[in-house]
Amino acid sequence: MKTLCLCLLAVIFGRVCFAQGYDFDIHTDSAPLSKASDQSRKHVHHIIAQLHNYASEIGDIRLQQVLSTTNIAYPRDISIAQVALSTNDNGRIILISEPFIDHLKQFLSDELPSLVSLKNKLILSEHPLFIHALTDILLHELGHHALNAFYSDYTPPGYIPTMEFEAQAWANQIKVNVELDEEGVGKIVSLLSLLHNEFVTSQHEKRSAMQQNAIRYKIDVECDESYSQIATVLCEQVRPAIEHRFKNQHKVEQPLTSINFKY
Ligand SMILES: [Zn+2]
Repeated sequence: MKTLCLCLLAVIFGRVCFAQGYDFDIHTDSAPLSKASDQSRKHVHHIIAQLHNYASEIGDIRLQQVLSTTNIAYPRDISIAQVALSTNDNGRIILISEPFIDHLKQFLSDELPSLVSLKNKLILSEHPLFIHALTDILLHELGHHALNAFYSDYTPPGYIPTMEFEAQAWANQIKVNVELDEEGVGKIVSLLSLLHNEFVTSQHEKRSAMQQNAIRYKIDVECDESYSQIATVLCEQVRPAIEHRFKNQHKVEQPLTSINFKY
């Protein structure tokens, strides 16, 4: 049985995404790394080292074991929309989409500055948003491993949002304990970049409208729970600016019930 977390996409489309197989032979790619990929690898390495220290300090043997046995890879054939996934089928593996990493970096450097006022542009520039987003993704995936919160084709759909919620709750608690992504904006940044990507690249209107609505719902949830100044800028200016820029695109209404998952 395959045990996976397809995370963001899974939350959006439930079990549909499990129909996709995945080739895990991904470690032989010798193509040169982009600057974003290189930065993300270094940061992930840094966080893992911080977590090792934290686990050692508090005597959390279980976390130490998870950190020591989880392999992280950056495949190019995981789409931007999938973001990341985890499995413990043949060893612990976290896969972070390299196209997503490149997209996130490009969104933050090329798109975001054009979506806000000069004053807020300065506020945004003071925060390492790329690092925050990457931190959130990595901790969320580690949360699946730490809690053994994996699901498969055979998992009742009702359990999936619970596992996603628990993985994120674990990540959020670690952020507090280790003082990472302290403004709590990592997930909002990822979701805004995904929403922008969906508007720019979508080919199939109905499916894209569903994706957009699902991402909007998740942004709403995150924004309702975030109170920092930077979250306010992202939620009250960047998100409406993205919507405004693409406001005449894909007006397919979807019932909220089909996407009403709690992350
Ligand atoms: Zn997940």
